Amino acid sequence: MTLPSDPLLQVQNLSAIFAGENGGLQALDDITFSIAVRQFVCVLGPSGSGKSTLLRILGGLLPPTGGEVLFGGTPLSGPSRKVGIVFQDANLMPWRTVIDNITLPLVIKKESPIQARALAKDMIQLVGLEGFEDWLPRDLSGGMAQRVSIARALIHDPDVLLLDEPFGALDALTRERMGMELMRIWQVRQKTVVMVTHSISEALLLADRILVLTPRPGKIALEMEVDLPRPRHEDTRYLPEFSKMAHQLRESIAL
Ligand code: ADP
Ligand code: MG
Repeated sequence: MTLPSDPLLQVQNLSAIFAGENGGLQALDDITFSIAVRQFVCVLGPSGSGKSTLLRILGGLLPPTGGEVLFGGTPLSGPSRKVGIVFQDANLMPWRTVIDNITLPLVIKKESPIQARALAKDMIQLVGLEGFEDWLPRDLSGGMAQRVSIARALIHDPDVLLLDEPFGALDALTRERMGMELMRIWQVRQKTVVMVTHSISEALLLADRILVLTPRPGKIALEMEVDLPRPRHEDTRYLPEFSKMAHQLRESIAL
């Protein structure tokens, strides 16, 4: 059994260099941190600080140039069913309905279509899309499309959910609502979450811990434990500790 304090993900001396002229472009430099089971970690940092690169490495989509990522104590060597990923753009297949987009990862793995649909129904309920099963992506709002993409990432029942600015393209109110939805899903499904965001207040409302990256090449500029009481809600923003932490985060991000 894994205890809540056990590290699920360990990132050790990670560096990422993209090949090119003059020795290439260094995106990440000597990043070390670990994430406990069921922790919610947010990654903040200026544009180009390597947040997406870090997430792609954690998702096994990009091999690091140096260092390693241990997943449950074992080196990560490629994409895994134990990791679900949600990108900024929902990336849905335009000709597939909501339910058929959600079952896609299982269809690709040639799993039983009956079981895939049953699992997708559970996911649809989890993300609050009942009644929209047969809609096409072009008829969905941005928030609904991101719900589909979260459901699709969760259908394998991964241990870790990685999200790269999932609400970046949404308007402020929808974004707040989606943040709260994600918090609910995290509590119900008990996942370990790593989420990249541009929003300091979103990070403070959601995370147990926040990592701030420096401008390129990304190093850890600040690691902050967020000990604000849970459950958190919109009013949590008005706590004095919230403003204090927001201020500290803002100072550490060279935007
Ligand atoms: P962020 O998500 O924090 O904005 P990225 O991880 O996307 O940052 O990018 C970090 C740096 O690496 C940027 O300078 C970007 O241009 C560069 N970069 C990202 N992906 C590639 C790639 N595939 N090839 C070359 N350079 C890349
Ligand atoms: Mg990015």
